[in-house]
Amino acid sequence: MNYNKKTVKDVDVKGKKVLLRCDFNVPMAKDGSGVITDDKRIRAALPTIQYLLDQGAAVIACSHMGKPKGEVKPELSLKPVAVRLGELLGREIVMAADVVGPDAQAKAAALQPGQVLLLENTRFEKGETKNDPELAKAMAAMAEVYVSDAFGAVHRAHASTAGVADYLPAVSGFLIQKELDFIGGALANPKRPLVAILGGSKVSSKIGVINNLLEIANTIIIGGGMAYTFSAAQGGTVGDSLLEEDWKDYSLEMLQKAKDKGVKLLLPVDTVIADAFAPDAKSQVVKAGEIPDGWQGLDIGPETVKLYCDAVADAGTVIWNGPMGVFEFPAFAKGTEAVAEALSRTSAITIIGGGDSAAAVQQLGYADKMTHISTGGGASLEFMEGKELPGVACLLDK
Ligand code: ADP
Ligand code: MG
Repeated sequence: MNYNKKTVKDVDVKGKKVLLRCDFNVPMAKDGSGVITDDKRIRAALPTIQYLLDQGAAVIACSHMGKPKGEVKPELSLKPVAVRLGELLGREIVMAADVVGPDAQAKAAALQPGQVLLLENTRFEKGETKNDPELAKAMAAMAEVYVSDAFGAVHRAHASTAGVADYLPAVSGFLIQKELDFIGGALANPKRPLVAILGGSKVSSKIGVINNLLEIANTIIIGGGMAYTFSAAQGGTVGDSLLEEDWKDYSLEMLQKAKDKGVKLLLPVDTVIADAFAPDAKSQVVKAGEIPDGWQGLDIGPETVKLYCDAVADAGTVIWNGPMGVFEFPAFAKGTEAVAEALSRTSAITIIGGGDSAAAVQQLGYADKMTHISTGGGASLEFMEGKELPGVACLLDK
């Protein structure tokens, strides 16, 4: 996939109507009060919106929220987003009652440069997730340029994330541009040595990432729950640890592939085990592959921490996906924290992908020490898998 895409800076938007795909899929209070519990994604969209307004564009913003499955669901209306966006931008947002219906059309037609219109939840339209060309055409007809800044949705080929680009000149906003520069840059042309740290819960959810990074990285570090499948495959005992029997053979293949390719692959040498999956479980440290019955591994051990921190010390680039342990329990967050700390001390380009990994780094207080934390969980995973992202592929090449 070509990551070198035109951006908002490469098109003239003065006096034009710009359809801007945002990721306003923000968490809402469960009580139906319409209170946004975290407005990070709205804030993240501000630089691109402000830039477009400063350039004299009229902005028609759109986004999905939740999974209304083509039905109009009042609790998934973007109205609260319009209010919050208006507060943050310090200007009134025009809210449409529909996506491409009469209200949206009339408001889009009347929109003036410097104004912002927000369309209703794109998934209120049945055609959105089917990438229906009629819906894409109707959305495109309201604007003259398409700007995509919804990185969290670029792995989906939907009408508002990809389809519209068939009918309008399509470029990226600043958020997507940053993701392409950092993740794309690290995959296509990394400063070496490239170290990939892979963890999280399951081997089966990371096959694509392991496969792809084995082609690119100099060193691969395995931690988290998936390490136990590797351990069991090599004949270790893993007690009640997370184990995917069906993926043991695959693990061995990966070890062989690493050997064949000259990639250094590191596995835990010790592990912190617990007598239950609980924050206050009894715990002790044992050698990897020697976990007694009734115990389960919930974090990497201190020797492993040393080994892994040494391995990233002289890296040029580190790509990290997947926590080293159950970081949600403070007693088992030490491995993840130590790795985050080691990354904060390196001069390497450090890139964090994956929803839980980003949350872990944030929760542990290392977010501002990383070069780049991806804003898209699923999208960043598919990116690291080397998959083509429809919402990126559809943008104009530079
Ligand atoms: P990401 O979202 O960054 O791709 P994953 O979803 O693959 O990461 O994995 C995150 C989850 O893995 C966390 O909730 C964490 O608690 C869990 N995890 C990590 N290590 C273990 C372990 N040893 N046993 C069980 N779960 C684990
Ligand atoms: Mg996850």
